[in-house]
Amino acid sequence: MRRELEYGLSVAALAAAVFLRWLLDPALGNDLPLVTLFGAVAASVWLGGYRPAIIVAITGYLACEYLFIEPRRSFDLAHFGNLVGLAAYLFTCAWIVAFGEALRKSRARASAQSETLRVTLRSIGDAVITTDTDGRITYLNSVAAAITGWSEADALDQPLDKVFRIVNEDTRQPIENPAMKALQQGIVVGLANHTVLIQRNGGECPIDDSAAPIKDEKGRVSGCVVIFRDITSKRRLEKDRSAQLMTARLFASIVESSDDAIISKSLDGIIQSWNAAAERLFGHTAEEAVGRHISLVIPPERIAEEDRIIASLKAGQRVDHFETERVRRDGKTILVSLTISPIKDQDGNVVGASKIVRDITARKAVEADLRKLADDLSDADRRKNEFIAMLAHELRNPLAPISNAVQILRLAGSDRQEVITASQMLERQVSQMSRLVDDLLDMSRISRGRIELRKERTLLAPVINQAVEATQALYHSMNQQLTVSLPATPVYLHADPARLAQVVGNLLNNACKFTDRSGHIDLVIEPDHDHVRIRVRDNGIGIAPEQLSNIFHMFTQVDTSLERSRDGLGIGLTLVKILVEMHGGSVKAQSRGLGHGSEFTIQLPIVAETSSPISSSVSEPAAGAARRVLIVDDNQDGAESLALLVEMNGHDIFLAHDGLEAIEAAERIRPDVVLLDIGLPSLNGYEVCQRIREKPWGKGLILVALTGWGQEEDRRKSKEAGFNAHLVKPVDYDALMKVLATTLS
Ligand code: ADP
Repeated sequence: MRRELEYGLSVAALAAAVFLRWLLDPALGNDLPLVTLFGAVAASVWLGGYRPAIIVAITGYLACEYLFIEPRRSFDLAHFGNLVGLAAYLFTCAWIVAFGEALRKSRARASAQSETLRVTLRSIGDAVITTDTDGRITYLNSVAAAITGWSEADALDQPLDKVFRIVNEDTRQPIENPAMKALQQGIVVGLANHTVLIQRNGGECPIDDSAAPIKDEKGRVSGCVVIFRDITSKRRLEKDRSAQLMTARLFASIVESSDDAIISKSLDGIIQSWNAAAERLFGHTAEEAVGRHISLVIPPERIAEEDRIIASLKAGQRVDHFETERVRRDGKTILVSLTISPIKDQDGNVVGASKIVRDITARKAVEADLRKLADDLSDADRRKNEFIAMLAHELRNPLAPISNAVQILRLAGSDRQEVITASQMLERQVSQMSRLVDDLLDMSRISRGRIELRKERTLLAPVINQAVEATQALYHSMNQQLTVSLPATPVYLHADPARLAQVVGNLLNNACKFTDRSGHIDLVIEPDHDHVRIRVRDNGIGIAPEQLSNIFHMFTQVDTSLERSRDGLGIGLTLVKILVEMHGGSVKAQSRGLGHGSEFTIQLPIVAETSSPISSSVSEPAAGAARRVLIVDDNQDGAESLALLVEMNGHDIFLAHDGLEAIEAAERIRPDVVLLDIGLPSLNGYEVCQRIREKPWGKGLILVALTGWGQEEDRRKSKEAGFNAHLVKPVDYDALMKVLATTLS
């Protein structure tokens, strides 16, 4: 159809050219007969190409030859002039056809290219906007229309800034339009990062773009093209990825800084990851462990355990706080608690396991310590309860003989022998009770850390004699034989003599108690270089080997019915050990077993021999001088029995029963000595002492505190109040006599 049209138009052009020549014929005559044909040929080649143009050229020549070339109405090609004219005509037509055809082809190519470009721009996924050199929009594809919200019709001829408004995503500041830069500088311009396009309706769209100048064939900028795309989903993806990355980093740092070892492994047991705590716990670095089998840290005998764990994991189950053993790089076995969780892939299949491993060796040790402590405490508690029961028994024991002795004294009349026997009985029982109470008080001081030693240069022999004397009554009553071997040269110690006598006395007392009647006891003193050994040996009941290490523990008594019958609270040896150690020495017990006797050896450091003066602010007067003695005690019996005792020694006695009465009596009587109880009604003993000391006549009195309180603190207080001496009830007869015989120097 198109072809027919082209030919039709060519024929029409030809007809028009012939007609025009005919119209011009009156003016031109025979001149220029072909002049109008060139236009028809040019029009034909432009409209239909070279074919119709050639036809028009030939047909036109024939028509014009016939109509306008002489002789008209005929074809006279024999005429030379006509032939030259024909040749010139054909030559010119050939040029027109050739030139026209070339033009036609280039126009067709240009139009095809422009069509291709238009189709391309319409169909590409990116938004495209083109502008002229003034930055006014000349084209906007459908994607750009969708992103900007401007239709092509509305956008055309608008300034680019109006349609393509861009700001920085973070600062919200407008960004220089890249198209302008591309136009001004003729270069390709990429957009800054984080660019947001403000849409026509005020909405926002993150974009990613570039602008490039459009240049003509001579290189002149003739416009600009801006290409951009909506990167909302890309940006979301980036954000998601960076969030995932952050989370992954966070997890990695948590895992890395965890105090617990965190390990992951595949289902076939190959280690996949190994954190810093795992390195510390097991001693293998991550490089050494990753890729190895988990049996690297499992003791061979526990490998089967791993199979059971894997089976639980495959079933999707977690293993919580499973306590087991693992092995370190250095071969040491450690106790651990494992928590193992399955690692699943996207489809929920178990593909591996993560393990949290905690070293519980220390915790287990603490638990064991606590268990032991609890056992020890309950053991100590049991022994204490037994002790209290025994204490009650031990304190009641002497009461029977004391009560008997009292009855004997009442009935004895003038039978001197019976009085002596009863008195000895009383003396023994009272000393036994005093010893019990003293030991108890000492233990209480030790447990409160309040025992103090008054160490001084001490000659050992008198200390030994004192201990022997204190036990005399006991071994005599048991008909036992005591042999004491003292060295020829004097031995000096840096020690508290009273405590040392107590220690040796305790051992001797035990030796008597645990040896049958008529047995033998040896007390041997052996100096050796810088120390001395004090041995107390008996041929008594002996000690079973398994008991030897225990007998120095508090409240320990060898639990046999035989020993039960032999008095005691089970604290004597504990005191011995503590006191000896406070002197820098040691004590040990030996026995060849039950029935083979026992030997206790004390070892103490000795000091070089020198003499040491003993000073005293009081001096003993000649014995026998009668004194005026005021006895103050709210316990009637206590006061009267003491009065009797003092009176029997030839002194004058006066009695008072409370503090105020005591002061009045003292004022009246002006005694030489006041034996003053501390716990008194109306005024206590300290206050009475202070008030008497304030009186002019009270300075020269001997004031003696007589109390049940005998601790260091009590002694210090009585000294501060102004007492000259402090005696503990039941009062020691010899000490009392000594005090009564004392005068102030
Ligand atoms: P007790 O008050 O029972 O004498 P000790 O602490 O002095 O307490 O002694 C603890 C235990 O050691 C005694 O009960 C006794 O079983 C044992 N023991 C102490 N000395 C001897 C000894 N010389 N021979 C045999 N056993 C002894």
